Amino acid sequence: MVSRVIPVDTFDLVIFGGTGDLARRKILPGLFRRFQSGQMPEDSRIIGAARADLDDAGYRAVVKGALEEFIEKGDRPTNVVKEFLEAIHYVQIDATGSAGWPELSKLLRAGVVRAFYFSVAPSLFGALAERLHEYKCAGESCRIVVEKPFGRDLESARALNKTLRDHFDENQIYRIDHYLGKETVQNLMAVRFGNVLFEPLWNAQYVDHVQITVAETVGVNGRADYYDKSGAMRDMVQNHLMQLLCLIAMEPPSRFDPDAVRDEKLKVIRALEPVEPSDIVRGQYASEKKGESYLDQVGSDSITETFIAMKLQVSNWRWAGVPFYLRTGKCLKARASEIAIVFKDAPHSIFGQELGHHRNILSIRLQPNEGITLRVTIKEPGPGGMRLVDVPLDMSFKDALGPDADVAPEAYERLIMDVIRGNQTLFMRGDEVEAAWAWTDPLIESWTERGDRPKPYDIGSTGPEDAAVLMHREGRRWREIKA
Ligand code: NAP
Repeated sequence: MVSRVIPVDTFDLVIFGGTGDLARRKILPGLFRRFQSGQMPEDSRIIGAARADLDDAGYRAVVKGALEEFIEKGDRPTNVVKEFLEAIHYVQIDATGSAGWPELSKLLRAGVVRAFYFSVAPSLFGALAERLHEYKCAGESCRIVVEKPFGRDLESARALNKTLRDHFDENQIYRIDHYLGKETVQNLMAVRFGNVLFEPLWNAQYVDHVQITVAETVGVNGRADYYDKSGAMRDMVQNHLMQLLCLIAMEPPSRFDPDAVRDEKLKVIRALEPVEPSDIVRGQYASEKKGESYLDQVGSDSITETFIAMKLQVSNWRWAGVPFYLRTGKCLKARASEIAIVFKDAPHSIFGQELGHHRNILSIRLQPNEGITLRVTIKEPGPGGMRLVDVPLDMSFKDALGPDADVAPEAYERLIMDVIRGNQTLFMRGDEVEAAWAWTDPLIESWTERGDRPKPYDIGSTGPEDAAVLMHREGRRWREIKA
């Protein structure tokens, strides 16, 4: 099966923070892959911008280094790298001063898509937005891309939204949540709304519960200072897990169009019930070995959580009484992100329990091995009479669609191409972000006020024991965390 690559319009993309970690690790390699696939028109330009004293040649060396570090050798033929580097430019600029801005303004072309990626600290967003206007870099149709974290609470998110909206319309602002750029996440919408099969079952009558797990094996590494001010709730739940929950729980939008989809997601966030303290388990990774525990790594007696598990209720007709269990953490057993829709038991078993009893589960794996699996009950093959087993109906893309499915763009590259196309469907709208903070803030405030200490859990485990209890007490259990 040959994948279709539809080139986007010619663009000038300015990456503020073009020398930084995110640009080197994700944005530039992603753009290279889009160039290689033929999606990025050759006359498009990528303009790195930062304070470092570099010229075009110096920045091309930085970009070449990034490609060598983050793309396998066999996947970056020398001639393609050379052509790609010709599209790279650099402007030495200070977001908070005047240096470099007239040069940038002169460099930008009329008549092509213009996009500005704010890959810098959020404290610089305001200064960048102001200067883009002051130096007439921003045209009416230009787009800006902003990274997480989008605020650290409702107040700061509102302030950030105001700063950006003082200079740009909402339809020019692309707030990235890279989870939404994953192939499977979009496939989740295709499966839900493109088939007649699932939608009739997608409700409290047939769904027992939903589990969303985002498990990481890494700890806070060099990001301890940043992470300690954030924690799992702010870093993962408020944005990534909340977005996944919205896609599962939302009503069918009338069209697959940015505002129709985002209106429905917003309704889900607004329908979330406040969470009881007894429905939240916070954890922190611990170790006997010196330097390995979170507390050693942050060097303080921190009560920031590196793990969180919680039970949520979406209070509307579709989901009344169906728990949504969310779980995320660092230093866990495996790196695995998965959404599982666990369906109810058949109302009556004609076979009796002793022949085997299994529930249908639709699992959507985001990483690794993106794919969708539906577990169904069948007769165990063989002469042993009627015994029931459950088997996966596996929709992993590689098997079903051939090797091309493997080269599906990674989240960042897909999202950047959506920015160029002007499609905001997979980006968070300002009101969504604010609604998510409005729901998150009281929870964080309540445990901060109480001074609750997270439960310690072993590195390489599945989190604190209490997380398992959260499920067991209701006769359920977490799905295994496996890579
Ligand atoms: P970083 O490695 O510290 O890079 C920051 C970049 O900003 C550098 O290129 C730096 O270059 C530039 N910069 C700093 N001050 C500047 C100024 N006054 N004017 C112009 N440029 C300036 O940070 P990062 O990890 O790439 O993160 C960038 C943004 O993405 C942050 O908002 C972060 O929260 C977000 N993010 C990052 C990741 C990730 O994996 N790294 C993931 C999600 C979100 P000079 O010092 O030369 O100016």
